[in-house]
Amino acid sequence: MAATVSWLVLPSDAGPSILVYLRDLTEQRRLDQLRADFIANASHEIKTPLASLSGFIQTLHGAARHDEAARDRFLPIMAKQAERMARLIDNLMSLSRVEMRAHLKPQGEVAIAELVEQACEALEPMAAEADVTVAVESEVGDVTVLGDRDELTQVFINLVHNAIKYGGNGGSVQVKLKRQRSGSQDMIAISVEDDGPGILGQHLPRLTERFYRVAGAAGHEKGGTGLGLAIVKHVVNRHRGELRIASEVGSGSKFTVLLAEHKSNLGLLEVAFKPT
Ligand code: ADP
Repeated sequence: MAATVSWLVLPSDAGPSILVYLRDLTEQRRLDQLRADFIANASHEIKTPLASLSGFIQTLHGAARHDEAARDRFLPIMAKQAERMARLIDNLMSLSRVEMRAHLKPQGEVAIAELVEQACEALEPMAAEADVTVAVESEVGDVTVLGDRDELTQVFINLVHNAIKYGGNGGSVQVKLKRQRSGSQDMIAISVEDDGPGILGQHLPRLTERFYRVAGAAGHEKGGTGLGLAIVKHVVNRHRGELRIASEVGSGSKFTVLLAEHKSNLGLLEVAFKPT
């Protein structure tokens, strides 16, 4: 155990007494290590597209200065690298924003079915391009949860985006909203299920780690950042919800987010103050 010790001498009638403080630093050290690893990984991920961009710029300035064919070939690749870098930085900023507010439970009233529908609509062009159908089915009416609208939107964008991207061309994605009891709480379960290649069991516990990507998986080459599910996990935790992942190779994957239903107490107030 790593610890710091400090003490205080307190005078009293019965003679001085000494107050000793012991502070366990193990958790602090673990967090410092996590932070250092995160910075190292993030720098590495940003340096890769940056190094590639610098290489292309040098070539276009030097050997290929007057080579129009090379320019036409390189520019789209350079644009892709720049987009990837922008995506990485956006994701890193989202993650750090959520982490900074991890201790604060968001309190906005969010109509969850509408939010999920809108997230799916935003991905329609991508689904159409991949020839994937996205169907939303809700059994919960217009219930609300307490949350942060932007963060929850990002959760469902990330999950549906992954389902389209990894589900594969011509596939289908089912998004369902249901009521579910968990302990003493009424929860809303929102599941995003694809019929893609699925994920080997050994990867499942690590999927929400930052930068974790399944090497060699279909869609791996599609320029992901490995941060999407880490963001999902952090947002769900901040909402005191739960993320469940089920997948089987050959049968697709299902990501379920459970959020507590918010019961507005307006109804109760109405009854309480009903004039007799
Ligand atoms: P990425 O930016 O790589 O998509 P994520 O954190 O969103 O990062 O996902 C981590 C990894 O989990 C992905 O690289 C992929 O290998 C795997 N994965 C995520 N969603 C699915 C899915 N629906 N089907 C198959 N694999 C998936």
